[in-house]
Amino acid sequence: MSTPSLLILPGDGIGPEVMAEVIRIIDWFGDKRGLKFDVTMDLVGGAAYDKHGVPLADETMAKAQEVDAVLLGAVGGPKYDVLDFSVKPERGLLRLRKEMDLFANLRPAQCFDALADFSSLKKDIVAGLDIMIVRELTSGVYFGEPRGITTVDGERIGINTQRYTESEIRRVAIAAFELAMKRNKKLCSMEKANVMEAGILWRDVVTEVSADYPEVELSHMYADNGAMQLVRAPKQFDVIVTDNLFGDILSDCAAMLTGSLGMLPSASLGAPMENGRPKAMYEPVHGSAPDIAGQGKANPIACILSFAMALRYSFNEGDEATRLEQAIEKVLADGVRTGDLLADEGVTPVSTTGMGDAILAALDASL
Ligand code: NAD
Repeated sequence: MSTPSLLILPGDGIGPEVMAEVIRIIDWFGDKRGLKFDVTMDLVGGAAYDKHGVPLADETMAKAQEVDAVLLGAVGGPKYDVLDFSVKPERGLLRLRKEMDLFANLRPAQCFDALADFSSLKKDIVAGLDIMIVRELTSGVYFGEPRGITTVDGERIGINTQRYTESEIRRVAIAAFELAMKRNKKLCSMEKANVMEAGILWRDVVTEVSADYPEVELSHMYADNGAMQLVRAPKQFDVIVTDNLFGDILSDCAAMLTGSLGMLPSASLGAPMENGRPKAMYEPVHGSAPDIAGQGKANPIACILSFAMALRYSFNEGDEATRLEQAIEKVLADGVRTGDLLADEGVTPVSTTGMGDAILAALDASL
């Protein structure tokens, strides 16, 4: 098989800082584990706008379509707030998601034991938590037509439409079942079938797909109850699949059970390519953090965990992904903290590079 290819788009703000640490980790896997990647670097967001006048150049888009996976840092910053909507940094990100048709957004909520005190919930409720939310990303109420604000009889009406086709539901359901097969074979589908027709169809189609996955234990839950259960007893879940709107809210809620924004990775997957790998983009959940950019304070773990997801979901290197996650777990257990993870006074934070150094040392120790 040819060397797997990666397009790295560090972006803006802390994006390049956290990505620099990921690149050291990628090099480590090449040197120490024989896992070589064909890496190309390019621009996205404000950085691309500064050079090309657009937040994503056509050549970069074309490259993203060709590679096995895209790794993105973050986009945006105050400098670009004044730009026209059509060239704002976020448009670069949206273009990638849209043109690669990345319909399944994977957001893990994993609580490292050493950080359990960080959660707003009691430690025993979140310690050891490891769930995955699969959010439909390219359809639903954020895209449905008709939409807009119109005036009828002198009163303004805001309109958005929840719309799902059967095939849109089916493909994200398949992605979720496949994931469940790789994990604990437990899937909970969330919608509002009690009040929404789109929810009834969602439930029907997910149930139909389940016939192909007899080993997976499927349950259905109304999304509002799902929100309550996530806060009450999150460990009852393993994989959750839900639509774009509910997934937006539920994944943020679940993610925050586990602490800092600097710890949260994500993956967005599309249809399989010719080589069987899904179209894929991996990125931390956080933004470009202009308040700490350029100061060496950013936590690189979210971006490094995003690369771990790439190892697992694009490159079938689950054992190496686990090696990387365990190295991070060890570093945290040893008390190494960037500023965002500091709970105790008197602990000196490490820099972005310091965290990278510690993770590399833990990787060395894993050999
Ligand atoms: P943000 O995620 O950039 O920052 C929110 C807070 O979390 C800040 O205080 C920041 O310092 C902190 N933080 C975030 N990531 C961190 C990390 N890795 N280590 C330590 N602390 C971290 O969100 P924001 O401030 O609302 O947005 C800033 C810019 O980022 C805006 O231009 C916004 O549009 C953009 N943004 C981009 C993305 C993306 O690229 N996917 C996502 C969200 C926001």
